[in-house]
Amino acid sequence: MSTETDTVAPENVATHPFQAEVAELLNLMVHAVYSETDIFLRELISNASDACDKLRYAAISNPDLIGDQPLAIRITPDSEAGTLTLADSGIGMDRQELIDNLGTVARSGTKAFISQLAEAKDGAGLIGKFGVGFYAAFMVADRIEVVSRRAGADEAFVWTSTGGAGFEIAPASAEQAADVPRGTKITLHLKEDAKRYLQTHEIERIVRTYSEHILFPIELKDKDAEPRQINSASAPWQRSKSDMTPEDYKEAYQGIAGAFDEPAMTLHYKAEGRQSYAVLLFAPSSQPFGLFDPDRKGKVKLYVRRVFITDEAELLPPYLRFVRGVVDSEDLPLNISREMLQNNPQVAQIRKALTGRVVGELESLADKNTEAYGKLWDAFGTVLKEGIYEDYERRDALLGLARFTTTVDGGPRSLKQYVADLKSNQTEIYYLVGEGVERLKSNPKLESARARGIEVLLLTDPVDAFWTATPLEFDGKKLKSLSQGDVDFSLVPLLEADAKAAEADAKTDGDTKVDDADVVAIAKLALGDRVSDVRASQRLTDSAACLVAGGQGPDRELERLLSRQSRGAGTKPILELNMRHPLVKALGRAKLAAQDDDVSDLSALLFEQAQILDGEVPEDPAAFAKRLNRLLVRGLTPAA
Ligand code: ADP
Repeated sequence: MSTETDTVAPENVATHPFQAEVAELLNLMVHAVYSETDIFLRELISNASDACDKLRYAAISNPDLIGDQPLAIRITPDSEAGTLTLADSGIGMDRQELIDNLGTVARSGTKAFISQLAEAKDGAGLIGKFGVGFYAAFMVADRIEVVSRRAGADEAFVWTSTGGAGFEIAPASAEQAADVPRGTKITLHLKEDAKRYLQTHEIERIVRTYSEHILFPIELKDKDAEPRQINSASAPWQRSKSDMTPEDYKEAYQGIAGAFDEPAMTLHYKAEGRQSYAVLLFAPSSQPFGLFDPDRKGKVKLYVRRVFITDEAELLPPYLRFVRGVVDSEDLPLNISREMLQNNPQVAQIRKALTGRVVGELESLADKNTEAYGKLWDAFGTVLKEGIYEDYERRDALLGLARFTTTVDGGPRSLKQYVADLKSNQTEIYYLVGEGVERLKSNPKLESARARGIEVLLLTDPVDAFWTATPLEFDGKKLKSLSQGDVDFSLVPLLEADAKAAEADAKTDGDTKVDDADVVAIAKLALGDRVSDVRASQRLTDSAACLVAGGQGPDRELERLLSRQSRGAGTKPILELNMRHPLVKALGRAKLAAQDDDVSDLSALLFEQAQILDGEVPEDPAAFAKRLNRLLVRGLTPAA
């Protein structure tokens, strides 16, 4: 670019190192071979479009910033020089912004992304999904030069890098500065294997695929020809539904969300009435990066009369943060500040209406297309469930949308299905919270329910321990944990096989002379303050013992999560004993025979066994092993 007379004096050139993550990322971009290189152009165009959006927003209060230079993006291939140039007349960057923005990655999850990328054979969709941004250009270029002038500024600066450890910043030469009256011009020195991006049909193909719906004109300047616009630059949300093909929606979704996947659900309408606004929203088909970031913020973009205002208006509640898209208002003031949005009653009204529409659309998808809805639930169910305890108003709807793994095989089940299949006399919906489906299935607390054919929801998402902490009902049936408080299944008849076994059991049940109540008291005395109570169990048929939480206070699983976090002593569990189990009966016999050691060892063992079945480790594993061994040795040694 620079000529002999035009070079910048070396003392004005400053060298800056990249942030470590950027250096790592660039190393991958420069050296690995990825198949998804096309997206570099999408990323640069998207940045250019953002820069135009920002300037248009700033110009609301200061129209001079735009003046008579229109907002546009221009792509210029130069086959002789082997360069591809992308220029925008947007907001531009000053020296410090060049250093900050093109030297660091601010996005959360970057570290995790880099190590995933380093391990992946090909980018395999990762690069597009994470959005490597500007740095994606190093997949196709071995040297990049960025000349930028902040809108309204007298000076322009040049950022240059070959993708190594750092970059250089210098004031622009007179020629460079004249070339960029406002905004940013990025020159890519293309690698040998990326020269195809100099062909105009390649550029047009990529723009059509990814950037068709960018709102600013994208112009292609080929050799000496006049620049010509190659995108439609129309707002897809303003078009009528009947005009849009599925392909149009897919492109609009990918353009707006910067995504690679297909939309799993599309919601497109115009609200008229107290307020007018156009809505185009999508549910992605796979989890976007950052979905589980602690800020739980959504990304729906707010436009006012085609002008982008912000993507931080939180137009949907946190449990719908996976939804992407645009709301374009006709009524809000253009100069509404981002801060004012929080308390604006019109925005609050849009928020409420939008939430209702999205939940309604999810319901109708669930009704009409089980398979598509099932996939959406797989990707976002854990997020949607947060709404059960956060959105009181839509609690019933969200419970209805939830899908569960249950003790009934054959795919996820809804509560509607559960209630339709209730056993006779069953009046509650039962669930068990724990760490994995397989482990839950072998949990003794299921035994009595299983013996009666009662379906139990198996909840294994971390969020399940939280939403179930609220008292809940569905269709007039209470949701009830099997590891909390009393359960009474006695009104629900046993399945046939189990009924016979119970009968047989009752017949042989005559060998202990100690009352159930006494056995319970014996165990309670022996366990002291390790338990808050000991009870005869209604839940168990095969196992000897289990631990449950009291009727008040948190469920066992939540208790466990909380005590893990605060490390404090939580409330003590209740030990339930299966009075028909030989080990429990042996406890009574040991007491009768005044074998006090056996009484205390057996009681502790029953307690610790129940802990293990819940996936816990006894507080003192060595003492547990000793006790177990003592009992075994005594049992194996013939009585003298
Ligand atoms: P992202 O766009 O996701 O923030 P990038 O790495 O692509 O990540 O860009 C980093 C930042 O650099 C942008 O957020 C923006 O502030 C700035 N930037 C990039 N390209 C431009 C441009 N053409 N005009 C003005 N600012 C830009």
